[in-house]
Amino acid sequence: MLSAAPMLEVAAVEKSYPTPQGPQPVLKGASLAVAPGETLAVMGESGSGKSTLLHLVAGLDAPDRGEIRLEGVAVQALDDQARASLRRARMGLVFQQFHLVASFTVAENLTFQARLAGREDPAWTAALAERLGLASLLSRYPEQLSGGQQQRLAIGRALAGKPALLLADEPTGALDQENGDLVLDLALGLVRETGAALMMATHSARVAARLDRRLRLDHGVLSEDAAAPGTQSAAASLKKARGA
Ligand code: ADP
Ligand code: MG
Repeated sequence: MLSAAPMLEVAAVEKSYPTPQGPQPVLKGASLAVAPGETLAVMGESGSGKSTLLHLVAGLDAPDRGEIRLEGVAVQALDDQARASLRRARMGLVFQQFHLVASFTVAENLTFQARLAGREDPAWTAALAERLGLASLLSRYPEQLSGGQQQRLAIGRALAGKPALLLADEPTGALDQENGDLVLDLALGLVRETGAALMMATHSARVAARLDRRLRLDHGVLSEDAAAPGTQSAAASLKKARGA
């Protein structure tokens, strides 16, 4: 895995947002690399910039400085149209608030993005529906689904085009723990099976512990999380041990 060329590289990315008090820096030189098939958690408190980083990687927003390369292609050098087709062809996106199309059935929600990208594979779509427990719900509309079912559909939609990279922004954040665990299990199973890489924003150490690697955003700085999976961060324990 280490010898594989990274499928995603984020190099010294900086991003500020304008505020009435002047520009507010959110990312101050974030760098990371993700190998093909690797699963990576981006952790951090609310407001630490997790969503900002995912939006930049998805090419939905542009960094002020630095570069993002997907499979060697500098995303910012592309025009809007080329960037959108790269996103459709190579990435799948899942958000905390499912973002399903209310006027589309489950079946239509599942397939329309893969179809747009010219990557619809009916056998794979049927397998996804089966695996995600949606096969008997295909003619329903999103409002007729539970929250867990809606998020399973959003994950199916994101994987229908067999992306090389799945970007997930707190995908279980709107669900109770039981449904969140189920959705995470299904998503991780499918990600590993398809060989997709996964970059997931989460503030939950429990969720992050399920992935291969953990990075933490703190005051605009991104670093490898020192915590052993499922435990508090090493920095926090050190502070505690010192009585800080
Ligand atoms: P997280 O996902 O970790 O909660 P965000 O990336 O959403 O963090 O936000 C990081 C910081 O940037 C926050 O202070 C937020 O208020 C600010 N921010 C995010 N998006 C915008 C925007 N479009 N315009 C201005 N400020 C923003
Ligand atoms: Mg966020």
